[in-house]
Amino acid sequence: MINSYTLSKALLGRARAVIPGGVSSGNRANWTPFPLYYARGDGSRVWDVDGNDYIDYVLGRGPLILGHGEPEVIDAVCRQLRSGQFFAGQTEAEIELAELICTLVSNAEMVRFCNSGSEAVHACIRLARSATGREKVLRFAGHYHGWYDGIAWGFSGVDVHPDGASFPLPMSLGQPSSDASNIVAVEWNDSEAVANAFRTYRGEIAAVITEPIMFNGFWSNIQPFEGFLRFLREQCDANGALLVFDEVQTGFRISLGGAVEHFGVAADLSAFAKALSGGVCLAAFAGRKEVMKRLIETNTVHTGTYNAYPPAVVGALRHLTLLAASSGAKLQRIHHQTALLERGLRDLVRQTELPLLVRASPGAVTTAFRAAPTQVINHRSAAEGLDFSLQRAWHLAMQDRGVRITPEGLWYVSAAHSATDIAVTLDAARDALQSLSSR
Ligand code: PMP
Repeated sequence: MINSYTLSKALLGRARAVIPGGVSSGNRANWTPFPLYYARGDGSRVWDVDGNDYIDYVLGRGPLILGHGEPEVIDAVCRQLRSGQFFAGQTEAEIELAELICTLVSNAEMVRFCNSGSEAVHACIRLARSATGREKVLRFAGHYHGWYDGIAWGFSGVDVHPDGASFPLPMSLGQPSSDASNIVAVEWNDSEAVANAFRTYRGEIAAVITEPIMFNGFWSNIQPFEGFLRFLREQCDANGALLVFDEVQTGFRISLGGAVEHFGVAADLSAFAKALSGGVCLAAFAGRKEVMKRLIETNTVHTGTYNAYPPAVVGALRHLTLLAASSGAKLQRIHHQTALLERGLRDLVRQTELPLLVRASPGAVTTAFRAAPTQVINHRSAAEGLDFSLQRAWHLAMQDRGVRITPEGLWYVSAAHSATDIAVTLDAARDALQSLSSR
């Protein structure tokens, strides 16, 4: 039952001499029992270099919403690579993809392409500052908007001064402390804190940025309170600020039209990555024409050598076309499979004495071990009573049983996951919980 990770271990030993921690993204270092090396992916499955195979709920941390190696996406990418790799000029596919995004996402009147969610967020914030002539950004503790200096604040919490004023904490060493003066960080789902911030910094806030569903932070996947996103919209309108939705997680996952469609609240600007492109490296930001046009009508700079890289554009176009086909039949299947998984995991909660918690959004489920009785509504409450050691043991126990989830307990679901995959997963989860109970 217990997997061998001998070859991964040897590769990691070699890698650590030349790659810090053996990983190219810091969060990959948290893997149990250590970062693994992978050889192959197909549909809902991946294989590591030791030959262990897994039902994969990591899915590239979200992008592979159609599963690994969707043939039409791969064909489109390969054809483009052969016919012309890169021009640092325009292609027709770029227009088609922008048109498709504008058709699907109601607040997207214009689109620009870039390469990562971090970049897309960065561009949204620059545009908001350019459009308002203000510098401060209101963000929420525990939300993740990429690792760039200017926005990676309030990541690990909001500290409170004795006088009640809050100040944000940086995510990382090496961030200039001067950036803090441009960040106002408050807890999510706290309307009063938002209204207070607008009162305190009257005429200074350029934008409010939010994950429409809080996917990040401590074992999250937390829904906004009824009316909270609308309240943000109203506060932005009343105070001349722009509303930015970071739809890197929600975009093309919870609905083809993203959070704007799902919650019926329009943002001025939105950042997209992950499920936009189905595993080719592409991100985008989109929004109101009047704001987006500033990129050409004013000196608001957005550049990038690899922006709209043609193989990525055609791959994303094929991917999004497939996802949107038949009124989003594939996305409906993903939501159905997610509900199946959620229901099965909730059944297991009733059968175990462990403090297992299950939360879900369309297309993604979260499992956490948390004994605290309080409701999870924001970063602070999500962190209360979390059992980190049980969480790590769960990650390893699932992996040893052939199920690959993120160490944070976020499970992404794809159209490639079959009912059998879900049934096998739930058997593995039952067995894993039993093994954890008898530790
Ligand atoms: N915003 C959100 C909500 C995210 O979840 C992420 C990545 N997990 C990012 C931004 C950053 O995206 P990327 O890793 O592509 O830079």
